[in-house]
Amino acid sequence: MSVGVKGWVWTFGLRELAAGLAVTLRYFFKPNITVQYPEERTPLSPRFRGEHALRRDENGAERCVACKLCEAVCPAQAIFIAIDPNSTAEKRLTSVYDIDNAKCIYCGYCQEACPVDAIVLGPNFEFFAETRDGLVSNKQRLLGNYERWKDKIDANLAADARYR
Ligand code: SF4
Ligand code: SF4
Repeated sequence: MSVGVKGWVWTFGLRELAAGLAVTLRYFFKPNITVQYPEERTPLSPRFRGEHALRRDENGAERCVACKLCEAVCPAQAIFIAIDPNSTAEKRLTSVYDIDNAKCIYCGYCQEACPVDAIVLGPNFEFFAETRDGLVSNKQRLLGNYERWKDKIDANLAADARYR
C-alpha cells in the first residue's frame, strides 16, 4: 500500500481520533493529579528560593554585619546597603538594606555569600505589588519576613546544612 493510500485510510478510519480517545480513556480512571491551589499545596524543596528575609540571632539581634558581600556578589545589582554611621567597632549595622524584587533573579548568590547566614531566600512566593516601588523590600520588611517565616526558614537551613 502506498503512503498516500495508507494516509487516506488512516484519515477516514479516524485513527488519530481513536488514538486520542485511548489516551483519554487510559487517564480517565487514574487518580486526579490536579492540585486545587491555593487550598492544596505541592511540597516545596528546602532549597526553594522565594522572598528574601533577614535573620536575627538567638538573642534577637540582627545577624547582618554590613559587610556588603551580598551587595557585591549580586549579579542583578538588586541589593543596596548603607552602613549605619553609628555602628560600633564590635558590630557594624546597616541603616538601609533594600532589595529590588523587580531586578532580583532569585539566584541565591547573596545567601551563599553571606558569612553569617543573615540574608536568606525564604519559602514565600506569594507576594505582589502594584507599583515598581512596592517591589522594593526594605530592611523592616526583610526582618519582618524572618519573623513571619522563622520556623520554616530555620528548618530549611538545618535540613540543608550538611550540604553547605
Ligand atoms: S537572589 Fe541573586 S539576584 Fe536576587 S538579590 Fe540575591 S544575589 Fe541578587
Ligand atoms: S546580609 Fe550578610 S553578606 Fe549581606 S551585608 Fe549583611 S552580613 Fe554581609
